[in-house]
Amino acid sequence: MYVPDVVRSENRYDAVLIGGGIMSSTLAVLLNELDPEIRLLIVERLDSPALESSAAVNNAGTGHAANCELNYTPMQADGMVKVDKALEINNAFEQSLEFWSSLTEMGKLVPKKFLNVLPHVSIVWGEDDVAFLRERYQRLNTFTAFSEMEWSTDFGELADWMPLVMDGRACGQSVAATRVKRGTDIDFGALTNSYLELLQLNGALELKLSTEVLDLRRDAKGLWEIELKDESGMHNIYAPFVFLGAGGGALTLLQKSGIPEALLYGGFPVSGQWLVCSDVELTKRQNAKVYGKAKVGAPPMSVPHLDSRWIDGKRSLLFGPFAGFSTKFLKQGSRWDLFRSIKRTNLFSMTEVGINNFDLVKYLLGQLRLGHEERMQALQEFLPRAKHKDWKLSVAGQRVQIIKRTEEGGVLLMGTELVTSSDGSLAALLGASPGASTAVTIMLEVLQRCWSDRMSSNDWIKRLRYLLPSFGADLKTESAVLLKTRKRSDSLLNLM
Ligand SMILES: Cc1cc2nc3c(=O)[nH]c(=O)nc-3n(C[C@H](O)[C@H](O)[C@H](O)COP(=O)(O)OP(=O)(O)OC[C@H]3O[C@@H](n4cnc5c(N)ncnc54)[C@H](O)[C@@H]3O)c2cc1C
Repeated sequence: MYVPDVVRSENRYDAVLIGGGIMSSTLAVLLNELDPEIRLLIVERLDSPALESSAAVNNAGTGHAANCELNYTPMQADGMVKVDKALEINNAFEQSLEFWSSLTEMGKLVPKKFLNVLPHVSIVWGEDDVAFLRERYQRLNTFTAFSEMEWSTDFGELADWMPLVMDGRACGQSVAATRVKRGTDIDFGALTNSYLELLQLNGALELKLSTEVLDLRRDAKGLWEIELKDESGMHNIYAPFVFLGAGGGALTLLQKSGIPEALLYGGFPVSGQWLVCSDVELTKRQNAKVYGKAKVGAPPMSVPHLDSRWIDGKRSLLFGPFAGFSTKFLKQGSRWDLFRSIKRTNLFSMTEVGINNFDLVKYLLGQLRLGHEERMQALQEFLPRAKHKDWKLSVAGQRVQIIKRTEEGGVLLMGTELVTSSDGSLAALLGASPGASTAVTIMLEVLQRCWSDRMSSNDWIKRLRYLLPSFGADLKTESAVLLKTRKRSDSLLNLM
């Protein structure tokens, strides 16, 4: 797909990446590492990068490795816990760590700027959920990826793992937890900025801020013609490859691109809210991310969790998420986003999803009715001694849940969806979870689909093996490779 071009005009790029978040910046670093000659442009509508979902305050900062997120290991009808997705996400996160290790060893990244090691804990209470967690632990523990997971029902030990969560809890309550010490808290906004600074320092990237992409179309030569608006007016730029890394704005741009694949998609926005505590003494008493189990009928995005966070070097505690509703697709978007995205081609699947997911609709309506008192009650299930005065509501990032038209009808997708045009000239990233944590794996998939010739060339394979020594291995089955990869990233995590 890649068309080398000796004659370069000012407004002609090899790759234009729309959106200055973690996805575009990861793709830009990968492309630059693979071929420093590629002319790259990132276009961002806001006046700084990483102000939407990738901003630390807009997401939970969990380095999703499936250590503690119970929604990645659903219980099946036969009573078995399904672990495939957990293994996949764990391996993808390992690939992120491997990438950061390589960049750190090359002196290009400073992990302290964006990463903190933090145990990941899952906690449940009640006989049924304890039985579920035990089954999950026993299944996962047989895989090398999760062999370090610990299990406990001992109140004393649990109080050691999470003092605030156990403080004030009735001793007779049936409680169980698992812990993986090798967990992380990540400031994805700081990581995005580190990537962009690195690229700009090398002169490898042009970054246009306060510049919005209004439209895109193919010109007669098969190049993408991209219409930009900045403070000086309208401009057109051209590229053979476009990445729509516009977060919540990606669906709108995908629809504007006119590629047939776009017709399959619609989106439904769900905003998030956290309770945040910045009381220094309280935050010091919690040193873990503690994930619970979503209530029966509630969607995966509603899994409650209490997270220790480090944002701009400051510690805080965050609990949530609580769902909110806004018709905007971006936190700083337009109230018309949802309405403008409804087309003849997605109206039926969107309606169908609304009817078939009545539980979700009911859950969202219930969340909208919550006041501070009810939110505090939800928090007190986690932190029995939580006091109103210590916690304030804060608005998180906006998610756009993807609705896809399939042969079986409209389906609501909870994960991340990569859409590419059949000729590989355009890729768009839709959806959220596990999102930022697995950006490296997702962007490698973009390259496999859209830059396939170069990905199979000897120079790129050599470069990829240098950047990601485990590239091409299946970490789910190749334990020796996984252990070697982990040993290397342990020095990044400062665990050795
Ligand atoms: C509440 C919440 C909690 C989450 N928790 C986690 C977590 O714990 N761990 C995790 O790994 N992931 C988490 N995620 C997911 C993660 O935040 C996202 O997957 C990730 O940040 C998406 O990155 P992005 O670069 O695609 O989008 P963004 O960071 O949103 O960046 C998109 C950029 O595109 C720009 N843009 C949009 N339209 C245009 C246009 N037309 N022209 C120019 N620029 C445009 C926007 O201004 C924005 O800066 C969470 C998300 C939410 C909402």
